[in-house]
Amino acid sequence: MNASRKASRGGAPGTCWACRAPYDRPVDTSAGLAIAGAVGAVIGAMLTYLWRFSERKQQTVDEPTPVVPPGAELVLSVLSSSAVLIDSADTVVKASAPAFAMGIINDDRLEPEELMSLVRQVRRDGQVRDADISMQPKRGATAHIHARVAPLTSRLILVLADDRTREQRVESIRRDFVANVSHELKTPVGALNLLAEAVGEAKDDPEAVVRFSSRMHLESERLTRLVQQIIDLSRLQNDILSDDATAIKIGELVSEACEHSATEAEHKKIEIATAVEPDLQVHGDRAQLHAAVSNLVENAVTYSPEGSRVTVTAQLDDGDIRLTVTDNGIGIPGEELDRIFERFYRVDPARARATGGTGLGLSIVKHVAASNGGTVEVWSEPGLGSSFTLVLPAHSHDTEETDDEEEQA
Ligand code: ADP
Repeated sequence: MNASRKASRGGAPGTCWACRAPYDRPVDTSAGLAIAGAVGAVIGAMLTYLWRFSERKQQTVDEPTPVVPPGAELVLSVLSSSAVLIDSADTVVKASAPAFAMGIINDDRLEPEELMSLVRQVRRDGQVRDADISMQPKRGATAHIHARVAPLTSRLILVLADDRTREQRVESIRRDFVANVSHELKTPVGALNLLAEAVGEAKDDPEAVVRFSSRMHLESERLTRLVQQIIDLSRLQNDILSDDATAIKIGELVSEACEHSATEAEHKKIEIATAVEPDLQVHGDRAQLHAAVSNLVENAVTYSPEGSRVTVTAQLDDGDIRLTVTDNGIGIPGEELDRIFERFYRVDPARARATGGTGLGLSIVKHVAASNGGTVEVWSEPGLGSSFTLVLPAHSHDTEETDDEEEQA
């Protein structure tokens, strides 16, 4: 027995005696260690979970989730403002869809720090507060937000936010426009004042009186034109088709525009040639379209040298009418092309003073195009000339007949 035991002990190293009978295969110690490790890990994970769970329970007892008062959610959902509810840990508890769209929420936090500090102030003293906040998004222009912050319950703060970006833009355009108009009106009014004084002082010099009075005539014409253009523009601001829209023959618009500039063209020996496809019609506001085409022809004559040629063409192109006014005048530098449609913008202000330009003509053209469902395109090359194209939806005779039939019915 001993001998056999000894013999056996001297056999394969690592053999476990106690295990010998049920298991014939030897057991690796590294596998045993791995099993023990895994069991330890499982126990550790369970303990961690239990500890976290008890901690969370403790926290829940300390800070129960604030309850949104009954009915409040419904009221907030019908408000036109974006609504956000913030709890005492500065976390967003609820927010309406427009609040996310407005970009004032990032994850579960209010994004603008200015708005967040307003929330904290309101939480401290319970006073309702209003603020105008500017937000600079990563992409795009600055957004302007009006926010009203109020305590809703002892634990919830309500933030109501309205996007005022558009109103701010309109207001700043209005302010610029009023400032520009005042400035522009001052020039001819000031000139008339000085000329009136000069006429008074030159009463014994008939030649000077004639000279000054013709200058007065010119300045008063400039003033009348400026006032008329300001009125035209103010009527056009909404870019919507006026109630006076009718079917208008393009041929008539072109002849009237050429007639309007005939005296100036004759004076500069400029030939105005026209090529208009027959029967072209647009559905739009006659006075507006007359002003737009006349402005384009007038500019072509004004900015062209003596003896040159201006052409006005109109043709149908894929359901649109393309009315183009081309000249061989001074042209416009490429970097100015984006700006010439702005109100009161002139490429060369000194030259504009000499030509009597107001800087409003192309702005009127742009708004007339938009109000009548069209666009305006420009090509220009300094020294070579310019070409302005009004693109307007063609009015077909079929549509006209259908309209007439409907009216009769
Ligand atoms: P203005 O009353 O000064 O002509 P517009 O708004 O009609 O005002 O035009 C803006 C500016 O664009 C002008 O001051 C002029 O410099 C430039 N411009 C417009 N049309 C032409 C043209 N056909 N050729 C060259 N420059 C032009």
